[in-house]
Amino acid sequence: MSVEIRGLTKRFGSYTALGGVDLAVEDGAFYALLGPSGSGKTTLLRIIAGLDFPDAGVVRFAGEDVQGRDARDRQVGFVFQHYALFRHLSVFENVAFGLRVRPRAARPPAAEIKARVEELLALVQLESLAGRYPGQLSGGQRQRVALARALAIEPRVLLLDEPFGALDAKVRKELRRWLRALHQRLGLTSMFVTHDQEEALELADQVVVMNQGRIEQIGAPRAIYEQPATPFVYEFLGGANRLPCLVQGGVIELFGTRLARPAPAGIEGPAFLFVRPQDLTLVPGGGQGSLAATIESVVTTGPSYRLDLRLPGLAVPLEAELPQAEFDRLQLAPRTQIALTPRRFGLFAAEDAPAAAAAAAAEPPLRLVVGE
Ligand code: ADP
Ligand code: MG
Repeated sequence: MSVEIRGLTKRFGSYTALGGVDLAVEDGAFYALLGPSGSGKTTLLRIIAGLDFPDAGVVRFAGEDVQGRDARDRQVGFVFQHYALFRHLSVFENVAFGLRVRPRAARPPAAEIKARVEELLALVQLESLAGRYPGQLSGGQRQRVALARALAIEPRVLLLDEPFGALDAKVRKELRRWLRALHQRLGLTSMFVTHDQEEALELADQVVVMNQGRIEQIGAPRAIYEQPATPFVYEFLGGANRLPCLVQGGVIELFGTRLARPAPAGIEGPAFLFVRPQDLTLVPGGGQGSLAATIESVVTTGPSYRLDLRLPGLAVPLEAELPQAEFDRLQLAPRTQIALTPRRFGLFAAEDAPAAAAAAAAEPPLRLVVGE
């Protein structure tokens, strides 16, 4: 079932937790809400579930405004970070709970409940543990029970709020693959909250990057990573070097060097160029249209090398990352002079990159050489 959100606003006192959120989730899609702590992810999910109410805006399920429907009526399955299982109920009874508490007229017969719970426990691969209590399960097993319980009510939408956040890295990785496969099998519309970029990129069809109660960007994992729409997305997903530059007539000038690649349309004047460490091409010596730099230090992270580069005019070193084979081929070492070209970059007008502008202002003044 599709979920559509329009102009959703939520305030807690004078604090705006959601500042006008628009989002359309297609039927059967898997969306990740990704953002730092406090960016409004849980608030958004709770409003969709009907556990909290917005100050303005609408939520539509399959085109229908669900404002007047309470949480149970919305048929939403919810899995929280902390398993929140009933400790005094067995695994079987935890999963059966949502069906047993239905009003008599809507409650399935006992035999049907039994069959449904057994089917769900098989789905989450816990058939053999039906008689255990939550205290006798591992964290990963408990989260699978929580998921089976959420699915028992046959939800139209599945909402997961950092469901693996409390688990260790290895279990988390396993569960996330498993959840992805389960989603594909069930074809449910799912929304998954995380602050872990790797988790979001690996799991979702579409990633929604949130910051301070607003959506910064919505896109497929690859597009989000390769073409961040804002400086925030660059920094939140993987990090980037930010270089103050000047754009004149479509030409980007960095520390007196004019880049061969033109600036995107619409940017003129002081700007910031964001480039990821992996997106820099290094060539020993010098070259036209590239920046002259010196290798300051080299560390290996195993499969790749990280280099700190010193650029005349830049107070902080520039980070570059090269695959091991490339590093070996180039025979790079500290103090080598190199020519540097950004292969892929983002360019933002200075006023649109306030954080970057503030950081640059704290650095010594730069000499921007205009012309050849
Ligand atoms: P996230 O899940 O992205 O970490 P939340 O949606 O939980 O963020 O919170 C967004 C902001 O709203 C936070 O600054 C949080 O402190 C605030 N907030 C959330 N719930 C309440 C509440 N019930 N009362 C007051 N402030 C709240
Ligand atoms: Mg949260």
